[in-house]
Amino acid sequence: MPSPALSILHSVFGYAAFRGEQQAIVEHVAGGGDALVLMPTGGGKSLCYQIPALLRDGCAVVVSPLIALMQDQVDALRQLGVEAAFLNSSLDAPAQREVEQRFSRGDLKLLYVAPERLLTERCLDLVARSPVALFAIDEAHCVSQWGHDFRPEYRQLTILHERFPDIPRIALTATADAPTRREIVERLALEDAREFVSSFDRPNIRYRVVEKDDARRQLKDFLAAHRGESGIVYCLSRRKVEDTAEWLASEGIDAMPYHAGMDANLRAANQQRFLRTEGVVMVATIAFGMGIDKPDVRFVAHLDLPKSIEGYYQETGRAGRDGLASDAWLCYGLGDVVTLMQFIAQSEAGEERKRVERAKLDALLGYAETTACRRQRLLAYFGEELAQPCGNCDNCLDPPQTWDATVVAQKALSCVYRTGQRFGVGHLTSVLRGEADERIRQLRHDELGVFGAGADLDKTQWRGVFRQLVALGLLAPDDEGFGTLRLTSASRAVLKGEEAVHLRRQADRTARRASRQQARGERTRANLDIAPDEAPLWDALRGLRARLAKEQSLPAYVIFHDATLFAMLRERPQTLRELGAIGGVGERKLERYGADFLGVLRGG
Ligand code: ADP
Ligand code: ZN
Repeated sequence: MPSPALSILHSVFGYAAFRGEQQAIVEHVAGGGDALVLMPTGGGKSLCYQIPALLRDGCAVVVSPLIALMQDQVDALRQLGVEAAFLNSSLDAPAQREVEQRFSRGDLKLLYVAPERLLTERCLDLVARSPVALFAIDEAHCVSQWGHDFRPEYRQLTILHERFPDIPRIALTATADAPTRREIVERLALEDAREFVSSFDRPNIRYRVVEKDDARRQLKDFLAAHRGESGIVYCLSRRKVEDTAEWLASEGIDAMPYHAGMDANLRAANQQRFLRTEGVVMVATIAFGMGIDKPDVRFVAHLDLPKSIEGYYQETGRAGRDGLASDAWLCYGLGDVVTLMQFIAQSEAGEERKRVERAKLDALLGYAETTACRRQRLLAYFGEELAQPCGNCDNCLDPPQTWDATVVAQKALSCVYRTGQRFGVGHLTSVLRGEADERIRQLRHDELGVFGAGADLDKTQWRGVFRQLVALGLLAPDDEGFGTLRLTSASRAVLKGEEAVHLRRQADRTARRASRQQARGERTRANLDIAPDEAPLWDALRGLRARLAKEQSLPAYVIFHDATLFAMLRERPQTLRELGAIGGVGERKLERYGADFLGVLRGG
């Protein structure tokens, strides 16, 4: 006989099996224990409190900072036949009273509440006289003063423990590092909670890093392979977000901007549109993202270098929560490295903080330049070992070649040195290639020994060499922002021939062109592997879903996720029973939508 938890997983959610630690967590919390859950984005945290809520008497109170998403979360639960509601500032007084009454009468199984609302006396009193199954504290890293999602109200949530010591609490987050974890335990008084730390691997995400060459063209080629899919393009500055979104729109792509400097209403409207409409590309700063639990984000592209691996992993983690193949694509060049290094140098932060930031950037550069498996590198950063190369990153799929660049590196470094450590890559390359212009003559750099010593490499190749030398810490940009390069303490050993330098071979131009053509030629929805003869049925399934969603003004994924439709396409169920066996088809949805989908499947 299946356990009660498993029965609910089958009947309500329509899933065949728990993932990873889910079952242990559910049983621990359902049994009255406290828990701290660390799981990557898309790992399946919600079930960890939703199923205990259904197993225990009373209602789960879910604390979440993400007011804009509560409506969708509640809608999704109602679709499953679960009584759910939310309390936040978007409700008018009568609506709020109604929710409060349902809660105190015991008619709700899940209640989402914003922290500032929960902490009011009125709300705490309400909690005291209502049947409460558990407290779930979502996005628990918001207690951390050092994280970028800090919410002061989160620190007052210990009151839950003080006032309701017998009610189990479960705190959840996708932010893994040890200091944050300690802060959560301390700040939320979770010393006695059991910690559940999941693997942070996201096997369905394919990581790729490309050298920036002509960023807009590269982005366009990348997007061409994702036509009609939802995705996020991250940029560093607000200005670049606006420019990029505008340019993409002019190229006929359904793109919108999002950043913290925008009018709040417009920002909220763009977010809603991204969540509810299929195939929208959001161009955003990192202000966009926390709690974006849209399951079918098919790609995350970075047009600028993130500041740390933590940030990069969080941002890319927003792709593919539904478990289907998704892309994480980073396009970076020397200019990005220089910009970020200058950011750090010029910031007001103290020396200690700057040191930490530099180390974080170094780790990210190491990731960007590695010739080994990217996933192994990422997971190693989070203290997790992946025994085998992943087979699903660019370096695994198309192993890069390295070359002994010791002599070339020596030429580059000595060129920097001989020209007085006052010039940028453009000038240095001209000197190395022996291209005398007026300025070079004036400076008499055409009389240097290195003049023309590197004529065998073209400009692009030199740019790649300089970028890698900076990434390796053999050259450093100046702090003032002029883009000039100077030697570092590590340069000496190379100049003296004590240390060899191996660089990654730049993808050559013909190869690049070929892959571009290939990208263009690929079908849209390339990631889902829909064969041409399956396309009509796929479109029909999506069309039905879109109609059902529209009738109830819900986002399409609240009806069924792409993963569920994809399973229907592959399995072709012909009876209600077979349809019910598809992942994501629970009893309630089978009852409501089964006949409609069977109609399409039988016809197709
Ligand atoms: P998180 O909050 O950790 O980012 P979610 O709770 O939103 O992740 O879950 C991510 C996705 O995985 C959702 O689409 C969810 O329905 C799905 N999911 C979660 N657990 C399972 C499971 N045991 N089997 C199949 N799908 C699951
Ligand atoms: Zn790999």
